[in-house]
Amino acid sequence: MGLHHGQVLRILRDEGPNSRAVLARRSKLSATTLTHVTAQLLADGSVVEEEPAGSSGLGRPGMAIRLLPDAHHVAGVHIGAGLVQIAITNLLGSPKAAASFEFGLPNTSPEALTTRIADEIDRLKVVGGFDRLLGVGAGVPGPVDAGQRTILASINTGWRNLPLAGMLERRTGLPVVLEHNVTAMAVAEARFGLGRDVPALLYVYLRSGLGAGLVVDGVPFRPGGHGAVELGHIQISQDGPQCSCGNHGCLESYVNERVLMRALGLEGSAPADLLMQVENTDAWEPTLSRLTDSLAIAISLLTPDLIVFGGHLADAPESLFAHLREHLPPRVMPHMRDILRFERTSFGSQPGAIGGAAVALDHLFYSGARH
Ligand SMILES: [Zn+2]
Repeated sequence: MGLHHGQVLRILRDEGPNSRAVLARRSKLSATTLTHVTAQLLADGSVVEEEPAGSSGLGRPGMAIRLLPDAHHVAGVHIGAGLVQIAITNLLGSPKAAASFEFGLPNTSPEALTTRIADEIDRLKVVGGFDRLLGVGAGVPGPVDAGQRTILASINTGWRNLPLAGMLERRTGLPVVLEHNVTAMAVAEARFGLGRDVPALLYVYLRSGLGAGLVVDGVPFRPGGHGAVELGHIQISQDGPQCSCGNHGCLESYVNERVLMRALGLEGSAPADLLMQVENTDAWEPTLSRLTDSLAIAISLLTPDLIVFGGHLADAPESLFAHLREHLPPRVMPHMRDILRFERTSFGSQPGAIGGAAVALDHLFYSGARH
């Protein structure tokens, strides 16, 4: 694998165009090795060498190597409970084509779902005019094995030890890598969004369940190869309602789409402005206080610099953010009070699909895997 290629590509991704001299210094590669690596990257069209923007053309300014974001593309897939979102993105995670569909649980078999995802990817390839994709990254609703091939357990879909990567590879003919879906969203924010210069980023996502993902120093937090940050399963009341995990009184048993819909007297698909509507009911104050209690624990344990909110939390009323900014700092260690920030996701309604794409890019491009 082209580890040196990956190293140079990551510098170009994170810092923009750079001269060969700067690339050599930053990568600590010898001039000979760097010449070899850049020649291969130039030959396959991943980078271009040009005069830096703003150069006068007088004298001989140093040429700069620049990543060509549209040289290659990947497919990112988000699989949630009953919802699939797909995006084809370029090398900087910019979506170029997108699709989504809902699926019935528990009636949709994994085989049927895999076929549908592969068909949608094929359709997007045709629509967008993409000859070839580097591969597929799929964010899935549960922890995955260390090799990122198998979904170990997904409570909301009932899947256990599902070898989804292999299934999708057979259908798409492309390499596939899996990641826990909210961890994938955190990776996307760390690479291409709000967390680019942030040491520790915690992502919190509310839809059918309440999930979280953590990236520390650019690395997805996956202790033991498959652990996830189970924020939704922090127990906040021993005699609370039974949770989907079997325990009682988990945060998720109070703060989930179904319970919030019930508070509104609604059925069916949740509206985009779910939390805006909950704000006007008696369910709002307890929702805020339970979320605050759980986040205070998470902040003390994980010390995130930035917490990014996605799903219904991305569309939450400003009062939720005001509440967190007022009530969380006094409950965490003094040094965290000045550092901690809260933001809505920078990827709108597609954080999961772009998350999948970011994972695919990490594994199939910025690792140097294709060189
Ligand atoms: Zn639980």
